[in-house]
Amino acid sequence: MLEIKKDFNLKNYNTFGITVFADFFVEIQSISDFLALFKNRIFQTKSHFILGGGSNLLLTQNVNALVIHNKIKGINIEKEDDNHVYIKSGAGEIWHDFVLYCVENQYAGIENMSLIPGTVGAAPIQNIGAYGVELKDTFWQLEAISLKDGEIKIFNRDECKFGYRESVFKNEEKGKYFITSVTFRMNKTPNLNISYGAISDTLKKYNIEKPSIKNISDAVIEIRKSKLPDPAKLGNSGSFFKNPEVENEIATKLKAQFPTLPVYNFTETTSKLAAGWLIEQCGWKGKIVGNTGSHKDQALVLVNYGNATGKEIWDLAIKIQKSVFEKFNVLIQPEVNVI
Ligand SMILES: Cc1cc2nc3c(=O)[nH]c(=O)nc-3n(C[C@H](O)[C@H](O)[C@H](O)COP(=O)(O)OP(=O)(O)OC[C@H]3O[C@@H](n4cnc5c(N)ncnc54)[C@H](O)[C@@H]3O)c2cc1C
Repeated sequence: MLEIKKDFNLKNYNTFGITVFADFFVEIQSISDFLALFKNRIFQTKSHFILGGGSNLLLTQNVNALVIHNKIKGINIEKEDDNHVYIKSGAGEIWHDFVLYCVENQYAGIENMSLIPGTVGAAPIQNIGAYGVELKDTFWQLEAISLKDGEIKIFNRDECKFGYRESVFKNEEKGKYFITSVTFRMNKTPNLNISYGAISDTLKKYNIEKPSIKNISDAVIEIRKSKLPDPAKLGNSGSFFKNPEVENEIATKLKAQFPTLPVYNFTETTSKLAAGWLIEQCGWKGKIVGNTGSHKDQALVLVNYGNATGKEIWDLAIKIQKSVFEKFNVLIQPEVNVI
C-alpha cells in the first residue's frame, strides 16, 4: 500500500543535511508500486522529482513536487559467457553494497568505485567515476519508466550518451524517466586499474605485489576515508564542481603562466584542469563563510557546518565560480544537481 506523505522534511534525505520540505513524498519498492502511483491523482497533478540517496543534490528551496524515493532492491545474474557476467541490480540498491557484492563474487570492473555514496539507479545519471574508472566501462543497459506515459524503455550504452559526469539524463532526457534497474557486464578476468598513485602507494604500504579485486577495493576505501569528509559527520555532496575541460591551446597558455597547474590530457583537442587546484589558488581552501565553507583538505568539497541553508551554500559556490573565472578566465561548472 503506497503511503504518500505531505509536507515532508528532506533533511535526512540529502547528504548536505539541509532542511527543506517536499510538498509530497512517497517511497517506491517495486515497479508495481510505481504503476499504482502512476494512476494516483497527486502523481497526475503534481510535478515529480526522483530521489536516490540525495548525495549529489543541493536543495536551495522547498521542493514543490511529489518526491519519489527509489527503494527498488534486488541483485540478479541475468546471463554469463566465458568472459562476462551480466548482473541486473534494482535501482534502489546502495551503490557501495553492489560494489561489495561484485568484489566478494570476483566480478571485476567497479572495484575502483568503492564507497561512492548513493544508489545504483543514480549512478548512470552522471556516469559516476573514480580512480580512472567510470560507470560506462561496465554498463550494459538500464530499464526506466517514462514519467509521461508509464511506458518501460530500455537504454543501451550509446543511448545513454555518457560523458565526463554526463549522460542523456542530465540533458535532453532530464527529469523524464524513473530508472528502475541497471545491468552491468562484469569481467570474470580482472583487468585491474592501479594507474592512480594513491592506489599503488597503498598497495606498496601493505607489500601487495599481485593485488586482487578486494585489495583494490580495500585500498580505495582506505584512501577515500582518509581524504573525504564523511557526510554523516559533516554535510557535503562530494566534489561540488566538475574539472573544467578547455582547449589544449588554452591549457598550454595557462600552464606557462601557472607552472604548477595540474593539466590532464582529455581528448586530442582538449585538456582537463584540476578544479580543486584552481579554487585553492583563489584562497578558498579551508575558508569558513557563515555556516558553510570549502573543506580544509579538499577545496573542491563545499560543506555544511551545521545550519547552512542551500541558498547560503549556493551563494558561496557562485562566489567561488566568479573568483576562479576572474583569476584564470576558466568557468567551473557544478557537478552537483542544484534544485
Ligand atoms: C562524500 C561524497 C563523495 C562522492 N564521490 C563521488 C565520486 O568519487 N565520483 C562520483 O561520480 N560521484 C561522487 N559523489 C556524488 C554522488 O555520490 C553520485 O553522484 C551518486 O551517483 C548520487 O547518487 P544518489 O542516489 O545519492 O543520487 P541523488 O543525489 O538522490 O540524485 C542525483 C540525481 O539523479 C536523479 N536520480 C536519482 N535516482 C534516479 C532514478 N532512479 N531515476 C532517475 N533519476 C534519478 C535525481 O533526480 C538527481 O537529479 C560523491 C558524493 C559524496 C557525498
